[in-house]
Amino acid sequence: MERTFLAIKPDGVQRKLVGEIIRRFETKGFTLVGLKFMNVSRELAESHYGVHRERPFFASLVEFITSGPVVAMVWEGDGVIAGARKVIGATNPLTAEPGTIRGDFGANIGRNLIHGSDAPETAQSEIALWFKDEELVNWSPTIMGWIHE
Ligand code: UDP
Ligand code: MG
Repeated sequence: MERTFLAIKPDGVQRKLVGEIIRRFETKGFTLVGLKFMNVSRELAESHYGVHRERPFFASLVEFITSGPVVAMVWEGDGVIAGARKVIGATNPLTAEPGTIRGDFGANIGRNLIHGSDAPETAQSEIALWFKDEELVNWSPTIMGWIHE
């Protein structure tokens, strides 16, 4: 079963949107398999956003993501990597569709509330970066037959 890494960024936590954001993935039909509330070290932030190291926004991005606690999560489901990105919406909240998390709650690209892995390879490496194997829970919700044929 496919898995993806999602993180509610410090703005989502400070704005008390944790429950609202998690609810959207639960009601969509994806399965939570890992969750922790944590501060992010500079090393972890720089490693997670390593692909953006040369971009002009890198320093402020690392500053932002380490500025307060985040909710790090792993979610599971058929097509969850692309599906979660759809639920999240476009990177810039001003162009993100209404109905998406960023479209509904965001107004600035530097405060876009949530991270989601963008491809199978990044999902795999981000899950390994943020979670130990034993922190992930293998389970199948009893209602699965009503969510998936
Ligand atoms: N970002 C930013 N300014 C930009 C582009 C990106 O602050 O001009 C931040 C924003 O928080 C974004 C993150 O950098 O979520 C990673 O950028 P990416 O293009 O990977 O967007 P995402 O995958 O989060 O949609
Ligand atoms: Mg990205």
